[in-house]
Amino acid sequence: VTCQVSTRVSGGDGKGFLVKAGSEVTVAQIEGGQCCDLFVFDASSTEEYLSVGHTWVASLRMFPSIGQAFVTNRRRTILTLLEDTTNGHHDMLLAACDSARYEQLGHQDHRSCVANLINALAEFDLAEPTVPQPVNLFTNVAIGEDGTLEPRACEAGPGQGVRFRSERDVLLVVSACPQDLTPINGGILKDVLVTISNTDTPESTR
Ligand SMILES: [Zn+2]
Repeated sequence: VTCQVSTRVSGGDGKGFLVKAGSEVTVAQIEGGQCCDLFVFDASSTEEYLSVGHTWVASLRMFPSIGQAFVTNRRRTILTLLEDTTNGHHDMLLAACDSARYEQLGHQDHRSCVANLINALAEFDLAEPTVPQPVNLFTNVAIGEDGTLEPRACEAGPGQGVRFRSERDVLLVVSACPQDLTPINGGILKDVLVTISNTDTPESTR
């Protein structure tokens, strides 16, 4: 029996999801062009989380490819990328936006992915964590041959997205990045759709 629940995350907002091991998670565009920061914590402790740096060692790639495992800061597999219907632009380099970033850009009290993360965890009565480097889904950062980074507008189209399998019980946070001062979201914040598919498989056949 597969139970599928879709949740619309408003542009600029974030939401946390408890996801059982073996469940699938799809993060999809609706209108297209919206970057999403993805944070994944072990359900039993926010001290173990999806670590981009450790994932680089495991995959020997800077950016995710289909079939790739993401690992934690304790080098245990936490997520597998099953499907990607975008052109594959996902960033694993740039830190999540936070209030200090928006202050640099001249704005006080701007929403941020870090604030969205903290608020999402608070809904589960969890304290502010060490903020991991997120997987910046749909985020289009061009890398020059000289090593320069150029954030560009998101190219993910309507309905396109990524599908993961959770390899552990996790708390997964999606932030539809509120960055409207740089080009990455095209200056307009859009909603995204998060779908959790929970296949009720007996433990013995898993
Ligand atoms: Zn952000």
